[in-house]
Amino acid sequence: MDDARSSPEIGLGLQAFTRPPGAPVLPRIARGDGIWLIDTDGNHYLDASSGPVASNLGHGHPRILAAMEAQARQAVFAYPSQFESAANLEFAERLGRLAGPGLDRAFIVSGGSEAVESAIKFARQHAVIAGQASRWKVIGRQPGYHGNTLGALAVSGDEHAHEIFGAMMRAVPRVPAPLSYRLPPNHTVESHARACAAALEEAILREGPETVLAFIMEPVGGLATGALVAPASYYEAVRQICTRHGVKLIFDEVMSGAGRTGRFLAADHWPAARPDIAVVAKGLSAGYAPLGAMLASAEMVRMVAEAGGFMHGFTYNAHVMGCAIGAAVLREVEEADLIGNAARMGALLRQRLEALAMRNPLVGDIRGLGLLLALELVSDQHSRAMIPLQKVAPARVQQIAMRHGLALYCRRTSRGAYGDWLMLSPPLIITADEVDILAGRLGAVLDEYAAELRLEGVL
Ligand code: PMP
Repeated sequence: MDDARSSPEIGLGLQAFTRPPGAPVLPRIARGDGIWLIDTDGNHYLDASSGPVASNLGHGHPRILAAMEAQARQAVFAYPSQFESAANLEFAERLGRLAGPGLDRAFIVSGGSEAVESAIKFARQHAVIAGQASRWKVIGRQPGYHGNTLGALAVSGDEHAHEIFGAMMRAVPRVPAPLSYRLPPNHTVESHARACAAALEEAILREGPETVLAFIMEPVGGLATGALVAPASYYEAVRQICTRHGVKLIFDEVMSGAGRTGRFLAADHWPAARPDIAVVAKGLSAGYAPLGAMLASAEMVRMVAEAGGFMHGFTYNAHVMGCAIGAAVLREVEEADLIGNAARMGALLRQRLEALAMRNPLVGDIRGLGLLLALELVSDQHSRAMIPLQKVAPARVQQIAMRHGLALYCRRTSRGAYGDWLMLSPPLIITADEVDILAGRLGAVLDEYAAELRLEGVL
């Protein structure tokens, strides 16, 4: 595992678009087995982040492979405006039951960005049908991430992406996310979260409530905030503000949904803050198919259907193979109690990370819920100072980790303006012994990085 290997020719695949010429060559995946990814040289990598927080069942899961094979022998694709499929019905039924009342109708798409686009357009069409055509503005949070298609990016709070693509998008108001680690002067986590909720109401009033369609937020943050969790009072305040002004509350659960936080939806942690619409993806298929869903209430769906139907759709809506995989994943999540395991293993992993923070100076904050955790890197635990931006700490840690057989997801967002963190979100099937291996390897990686920074005079 030599991270210095480089090639002037990245190849003709995806990497040609994403990596500069001369970048280190990535290991080539050969196969996966449980929480392990194995490259063509036989090196094993512990999947510490489930890829980009997707591979909830780990790799090569026999029940999912069997379901894929069985479905492949029947039908893989049939266009949903021509045929209904048993796979679509089973998946929608399971998903609706797990998501619960008010979110029990599923519009099935092929990923998170499509699900976010669908949620925004569904909310808009519903408003028009309800006689509220003046409502179109979707307020988002800064920082926040909802996808890379232009509509989803427009409601995302990422300064860097907006510098490049902002001119092509309709600007929408953004309000601060209640970041919990570096607080404004004279604030506690609670008072800052209250101020952030108040900022939402101010934005709605400033824009004119009759023009505001929805507020979108990640109930537990992903890469943009490093698994940010707010005090319970924040969720309740946001719900009340949205209700007061007739604004739909959309929870982006692309990362937090499907059991990852120790509940099926992160929303289930705050029953008094039930969203009107939720979007899920990633863990929904556990990476075995490109899959996502927009969840809404039967009542909203009925109104739109009675008015002629949702004016929106994709070739791969409710893809038969995708739905069969989604149904098999949800069956396994329930039968193997993986949601309970996410809560138990999340608590254990958090303990291990807190122990690491006691002995490694780079560990600033540990945040998250269940197995959606993040570790914030700092150069000084006391002052909470960031590691100098030019060190590109996440990329360097990721590179060192690969050499230690640890696959980490830690891409920098918003040019690192809010800090640098690693997502620690292994497959929900992880065992206590495997949590120890993960924590041990991560400790070695951070020790090595700390030694490197000391040599460079940064620590
Ligand atoms: N929302 C959130 C919270 C996400 O984390 C992501 C993906 N990282 C998306 C939306 C977009 O999902 P996709 O990449 O599947 O389009």
